[in-house]
Amino acid sequence: MSDIQDEYIKQHVSASQINNTVRLSRFFIVSILIVSAYVYGIYQFYFAKPSFYFNLWFIGTELLCCLCLLINSVYFKPDQFALAHAHRWLQVQNLVIGSCIASGMGLVYYYLPLYNPAFSHVHALILSALLLIVSQAFALTFLTQRLTYFCLAFIPAIFPYLTSQFINTETSDPLFHLTINFALIVILLCANITSRIHQRISSLYSKNNRLVENAKQQVLWTDELCKQLQAEINKSKDIELQLQLNNQLLEQKVKERTADIAKMNADLENQQQNLVLAHEIAGLRPWDWNIKDREILVTDSKQQKILKPSKLHHYQLQNIIHLDDIEQFKHAMKQHLRGQSPLYEASYRIQNSNGKWKWVHDIGRVIARDPVNKKPLRMVGIRRDIHQERTDQERLKLAASVLQQAAEGIFILDDQLCYIDVNPFYEQLTGFTHQHIIGKNLFDITANHKSQQRSSHYSILQQLEKIGEFDGELHEEFLSGKEQTIWMHINAITDEQNRVTHYIGIVSDLTERKLQEQRLSYLENYDPLTDLPNRFYYNYQLHQYLVSQQDSIKQLAVIRLNIDRFRPLNEFLTNSGGDELLRQVAQRLRLTNAEALFVAHLNGDDFAIVYEISPIHPSIQQHCEHISKAFSLPFNIFGQDHIITLSMGVAFYPENGRQLDYLNNCAEQALAEAKNLGGNTCRFYSNNNTALLEQGIYLERDLRHAINNNELIVYYQPKINFSDRNIYGFEALVRWNHPSKGIIPPNLFIPLAEQTSLISDIGRIVIQQTAKQIRYWNNIGFDNICVSVNVVAQQLQRGQLLEDLDHAIHTYNICGSSLELEITESSLLENSVTVKNLLNEIKKRKIHISLDDFGTGYSSLAYLADFPIDILKIDRSFVSKIGQNKQEAIVSAMIAMGKAMGMMVVAEGIETKQQLEYLQDLECDIAQGFLFSKPLPEKEATTYLEQHRLIPS
Ligand code: C2E
Ligand code: MG
Ligand code: MG
Repeated sequence: MSDIQDEYIKQHVSASQINNTVRLSRFFIVSILIVSAYVYGIYQFYFAKPSFYFNLWFIGTELLCCLCLLINSVYFKPDQFALAHAHRWLQVQNLVIGSCIASGMGLVYYYLPLYNPAFSHVHALILSALLLIVSQAFALTFLTQRLTYFCLAFIPAIFPYLTSQFINTETSDPLFHLTINFALIVILLCANITSRIHQRISSLYSKNNRLVENAKQQVLWTDELCKQLQAEINKSKDIELQLQLNNQLLEQKVKERTADIAKMNADLENQQQNLVLAHEIAGLRPWDWNIKDREILVTDSKQQKILKPSKLHHYQLQNIIHLDDIEQFKHAMKQHLRGQSPLYEASYRIQNSNGKWKWVHDIGRVIARDPVNKKPLRMVGIRRDIHQERTDQERLKLAASVLQQAAEGIFILDDQLCYIDVNPFYEQLTGFTHQHIIGKNLFDITANHKSQQRSSHYSILQQLEKIGEFDGELHEEFLSGKEQTIWMHINAITDEQNRVTHYIGIVSDLTERKLQEQRLSYLENYDPLTDLPNRFYYNYQLHQYLVSQQDSIKQLAVIRLNIDRFRPLNEFLTNSGGDELLRQVAQRLRLTNAEALFVAHLNGDDFAIVYEISPIHPSIQQHCEHISKAFSLPFNIFGQDHIITLSMGVAFYPENGRQLDYLNNCAEQALAEAKNLGGNTCRFYSNNNTALLEQGIYLERDLRHAINNNELIVYYQPKINFSDRNIYGFEALVRWNHPSKGIIPPNLFIPLAEQTSLISDIGRIVIQQTAKQIRYWNNIGFDNICVSVNVVAQQLQRGQLLEDLDHAIHTYNICGSSLELEITESSLLENSVTVKNLLNEIKKRKIHISLDDFGTGYSSLAYLADFPIDILKIDRSFVSKIGQNKQEAIVSAMIAMGKAMGMMVVAEGIETKQQLEYLQDLECDIAQGFLFSKPLPEKEATTYLEQHRLIPS
């Protein structure tokens, strides 16, 4: 290591010696240049004889020095030269300079004293010494980096001097030589010492440099190391951070895992509990049989696990299994234990502690077998209580067989009203098979093209949605082509939350019943012999025409017909012949009276025909002639021709009567007259014909029956005050609630009742019911209500009316002023004194008297003043004609008259607003008519009253 270092130092010292000498040699050359010039100058100045050789030396030396300077500065710029070249150049240069000095010395010392006598030897010594000493002093200063460089300049320079000591011994001064020699030796020694000093300095310098370089290198390395260290520190910090992060993550993960595990544990706990609960609810009892250790773990009814010896358990089990099931149980178990079945499964009955049998289902599997001999080691299973299930299944089977067998159509719908199941009867009813119906919506299997069908279906669906029930008759056209009248009952089935889950429908086939109803209705309304409407239907239809006469039919003619001398002919023809005759008569009447409103067979040989009278139709006279003509042709009864004639009686509406019975009476009277004239003729009713005929015998009997059976009911028609539009009261109007024919209007039975004592009975009933109703209305807060009842002449005459009124007033404890009697003008005519007295008695009880149908009777104004009449009721025939000038004049006159006489005026039959406004302008007091309300049953009348609250005036 030290060798390398020494070598390095050596090289470095040598390089620095060369470098320094190159740099310092310039100063040396310049100083030689100056010394040469100085020596030359001194000679020239003091010894004015120029010497060619000396001049040449001077110029040569100066030029050489300049050349050296030039080469130095051009080729040896600092640090731009090769050391070897420089070393060689320095040697050459120093040698050249030394030679120049030597030549100068030689010239001064040897030549010049010879050449110039002025120039003495002493001068030569001084000048040569000057040149030598000064140049060597400079050489000592600048060339001692290396002793060689110094010697190369020094030795040639002293050569002439040294030689001089030996050549000119006689002229030379020994002191001088001693001095000079000494000086030269000293210089040489100094040069040696200086060169050594320089060498040492260079060596130190190079060492120093090396140390500096080392130090620098060390610093660099230290920096590098520091950097690496910093990087390492950073890296370790990162790693630490990463580690911390990982640590945190790990902790988090551990926490999460712990929480998950805790949750899983809790879930497992819950599931365990759920399982136990599920087992308990489902009646599941798991068992675990360790065959090897002969132990079995069973679950009891409280879900407690009990470990038992398996032998004991099987012994106990066999004791409680039903004898019929034990074989099957053993067989299933053995088979599975032997590995002959993949699963052990058996259903059997076991006996409870209370002795009852219960169905259970046992299922299990061997879960471990001996690997060598395949004998079972462990078996697990579940026993389930299926008693309820078995019972339900049986019940379901039963229900299903009911569904299958039922003679009604039954269907089950889901909550969207789509078919889930239907029974065979329903399939038969609809004409569709099961698979065609299932999945379809309730009405998808019926025709829906008519708007009526659609709206009916829609309303059923709406009802089902609203109230979850539908019950009603439907006529359905199924898409299979079947058409049925059915009764459908649908009920919603709901769950515990009252949500509809299903609908169950029961459908009955009404086709047969409908046919029967039609047959019955036909039998009720038609005569089966002649196929013509019977008396009942005739009366009903005629009444309809009369009631609705204001709408379309203004005039009617009723023709009653009777076969002349029918009884003897009937006896002759025998019954079947008579029937045949009647059939043919009916047929001929139907054919000849095609334009008639209808032809009816009333009874026996009585017929009736109703015609509408209008200018565009033939007259009734013509019709009658036409009938007579038609009957001139014979009837062939069982092969024999018979000529028969007819008697006809005609009555006209409204001329001969407005009410049905009057009209019938009139027609019958006319017929009787025709008969009296010998038959085969037609008579028109005339008022002169007053003879009353025997009539309505059946109606009378039925009416009596109705009275006894309380079939008479009272309807109430509201009466309204014109002034404030409050309810003044009601008119009580009787109705016959016939058990089979429904509500029969009074016009159909009052005229007949008037001809018998029945009208008094009816009157009493009406008064009683009205009084009871007034009491009820009073009780619920309607105190000032006034209800009028209709009374006829017979009631006034018979003397029973007062008693009836008193009885009603006392029984129901009502005020007399809440009653009103409506009497007709005709009632006042007969026995007027008695009537007057009676009316006065009635007035004492504060009961009002009203004159009904004013204007239609005799309209004798005298009795208006004579009788204690409070109210005038203008008949609806006048009210209906409001709008016609003359009629209006009559109405206004009647109102004015009533008012003038201090009476209250009631207008009945108001149907239009125009009528109402007209009467209001005339200051009529009370209004009654369909515009406000039709006569209402008692409940509806109460509702009406409540809705239009009476404000007591
Ligand atoms: P009435 O006493 O003149 O009764 C008024 C009749 O006119 C009632 O017919 C009533 O329904 C009808 N009427 C009321 N307002 C209008 C209307 O705006 N337009 C039309 N077209 N008709 C209207 P109803 O109830 O058929 O009674 C008919 C007749 O029967 C009564 O005529 C009365 O004479 C008699 N009647 C009713 N109930 C009884 C009763 O209890 N006893 C007696 N003796 N006769 C009674
Ligand atoms: Mg009346
Ligand atoms: Mg009236």
